[in-house]
Amino acid sequence: MEGELIVRKIREGTVIDHIPRGKALLLLRLMGIKGDEGYRLAVVSNVESKKMGKKDIIKVEGKELKGEEVDLIALVAPTVTINIVRNFEVVEKRKISVPKIVRGLLKCPNTSCVSNNDPEAVSEFSVRRESPLLISCSYCESRLSGEDVVKQLSGD
Ligand SMILES: [Zn+2]
Repeated sequence: MEGELIVRKIREGTVIDHIPRGKALLLLRLMGIKGDEGYRLAVVSNVESKKMGKKDIIKVEGKELKGEEVDLIALVAPTVTINIVRNFEVVEKRKISVPKIVRGLLKCPNTSCVSNNDPEAVSEFSVRRESPLLISCSYCESRLSGEDVVKQLSGD
């Protein structure tokens, strides 16, 4: 109930719950949210959680997540649950799952890979292992670990 004090209900939007603690800001980055888009945003870190000990929560008013955003979130934080809120009520609870294929979201680390050289090519990785995460490029088999993914997605 303590959580209720800090996080008000939102009218319309998305609540991302059960985020591993400390990952909320990374997830915002994955969603392309920098803070100047005009979304009303609440980020709560280190909230008590029965399941996880401590967790983070994000509430974004006026935004429903796109499929590819959900895929990225699933890669780095598979415990997350996504609640879609309309008119102050949770109308949909989505448990996310790690995608089998990740297209167009990550860059192959191999500079001579066709996905980095053919402007028509869309990068594609298949998920080899979910935990710990291991994905490999569909063109050249180059591998990325969960850490690589986070590094790539956070670096600019
Ligand atoms: Zn490649």
